[in-house]
Amino acid sequence: MVKLKNKITAYFVILSMILIALISIMANIFIKKGFDKYIVTNLENKKTSIITSLTSQYHNGGWDIKGLESIGVNALENGIIVRVEGSNKSIIWNARQYNSGMCESMIRRINKDMVDLFPKFQGNYIENNYDILDNGNKVGVAYIGYYGPYYYSESEILFFKMLNRILIIVAFVGIILAVFVGILISGSIVKPIVRVINTSKLIAAHNYKNPIDENTNIYEINSLIASVNYLAKSLDEQETLRKVLTKDIAHELRTPLTTIQSHLEAIMDGIWEPSKERLSSIHEEIQRLYRLIGDLDKLSKFEGEDINLKRSKEDIKDIFNGILINFEKSLKDKNIRTVVEGESYILNVDRDKMSQGIINIISNAIKYTNYGGIININWYNLNNEIRISIKDNGIGIGEKHLPYIFERFYRADESRARITGGSGIGLSITKAIVEAHNGEIEVLSNLEKGTEFIIKIPIA
Ligand code: ADP
Repeated sequence: MVKLKNKITAYFVILSMILIALISIMANIFIKKGFDKYIVTNLENKKTSIITSLTSQYHNGGWDIKGLESIGVNALENGIIVRVEGSNKSIIWNARQYNSGMCESMIRRINKDMVDLFPKFQGNYIENNYDILDNGNKVGVAYIGYYGPYYYSESEILFFKMLNRILIIVAFVGIILAVFVGILISGSIVKPIVRVINTSKLIAAHNYKNPIDENTNIYEINSLIASVNYLAKSLDEQETLRKVLTKDIAHELRTPLTTIQSHLEAIMDGIWEPSKERLSSIHEEIQRLYRLIGDLDKLSKFEGEDINLKRSKEDIKDIFNGILINFEKSLKDKNIRTVVEGESYILNVDRDKMSQGIINIISNAIKYTNYGGIININWYNLNNEIRISIKDNGIGIGEKHLPYIFERFYRADESRARITGGSGIGLSITKAIVEAHNGEIEVLSNLEKGTEFIIKIPIA
C-alpha cells in the first residue's frame, strides 16, 4: 500500500512541480517584457518632458541659467545627463560641468545595477540631440544622455525584485500545496483500491462476509467497490445454496431408502409378514425415488442447451380448461373455489411442457391453501406478452425464502415434512419451461395471506 501510495504521490508532485515551474518561467518572461515596455515609454516621456521644459523656459524670456540648472538637476536625479547649446554652438548649460563626478558615478551605478539584475544586459551611454525651437526658429540644441537602450531606476529595481520574490513565494506555496493535495488524493484513491485488492483475496479464499464499506467521491471507484461487494454477495448466496442443496439431496434420498431398509429388515427378521400392504408401502417408496430421479431428469433436459420444444398454435383458454379438469377432485376434496378469467389468446408453445409448468404451480396452490380457500387464475395481454397470474390465499412464503423458491430442492418448509411437500423440484422445472419459451416467472407472497405466481410469455 505504501509503495502504491508513494508512487501516485510522487507522480502527482513531479507533474505539479513541472507545471508550476513552467508557469513561473512564463510569468517571469511576460512580466519582464511588460516591465521593459513600461520603462522604455517612461524614458521617452522623461525626454519629451525635458525638451518641453527647455522650450517653454526659452520662450519665457530667453535662456536663463538658473532655470536651466533646475531642469538639468531634476533630469540628473532621474538618470539623465543634459547639455544645452545655443544656436552658435556655445554651451549654455552642461550637467558634466555642473557636477562631473555625479554624472560619472551615476552612469557607473546604473550599469552595475543593470548587469547585476540581468547579467547578459548590454548597455552603453547614449546621447540624443534635439533642436529647441521658438516660433519656428532654432534657438539651441539639447543633448540628452542616458544609459541605454533603457535603464531601471532604483525604485524600479526594487519593484522588479519584489515582483520576482512574490513569484518565487507563489511557486513555493504552489509546490507545498501540490505535495499536500498529492498526499490527500493518493490517499483517497489508494485506500479504497487496497481494500478492493484485500477483499478480492478474501473472496478467492471463500470469505464473503467482509463487504467494503469505503465511500469515496470518485464515481468509478464507488462502482468498482459496489461490483466487488455484489460479487461477494452472489458468491455467498451460491455457496449457501450449494450447501443447502447437498443437505436436501441427502435428505430426499435418505428418507425413502431408510423406510425401504427398515421394512425389509423387519420382514427378513420375521418381525413382519411380507403382506401385500407392507410390500406396496416399499413399492411406494421406490416409486417416490423414481419420481425424484424422473424430475431431475426432466429438469436437466429443460435446462440443457438442446431443449426440444414442439411448438404449435394453442389457445391459452383451452390449455387451462384441459388442466383444471384434472384438478376437479383435489379441489373438491379441500373445498377450494377457483375463479378463472381470461379471453382466448393464441400462443405458440409446447402444449405438454407449458401445461406441466402450470400444473406444478396449481398443484402447489392447492397443496399450500387451507380447506375452503380460493385460487384466482387470470391472464391478459400486456405489451405483446401474455401475463398469467395464479393466486391463492394459502399459507404464503416467508420473505427470506422467496429469492430461493425456484432453486432445485429448495423448500420453504425447512423440516421438509413429507406430508405437505414434494422434493422441491416442481418450481425449478416450471421456471426452466417458462424460460425455454423466452418467458419469465415471478412470485409475490405474504405469509398467512397467500401467494401469486406470474408467468409472462411473449405472444410472437
Ligand atoms: P415442492 O415439490 O416442495 O412443492 P416446489 O419447487 O414446487 O417444490 O416448491 C418449492 C417450495 O416453495 C415448496 O416446498 C413450498 O415451500 C413453496 N411454495 C411453492 N408454492 C407455494 C404456494 N402456492 N404457497 C406456499 N408455498 C409455496
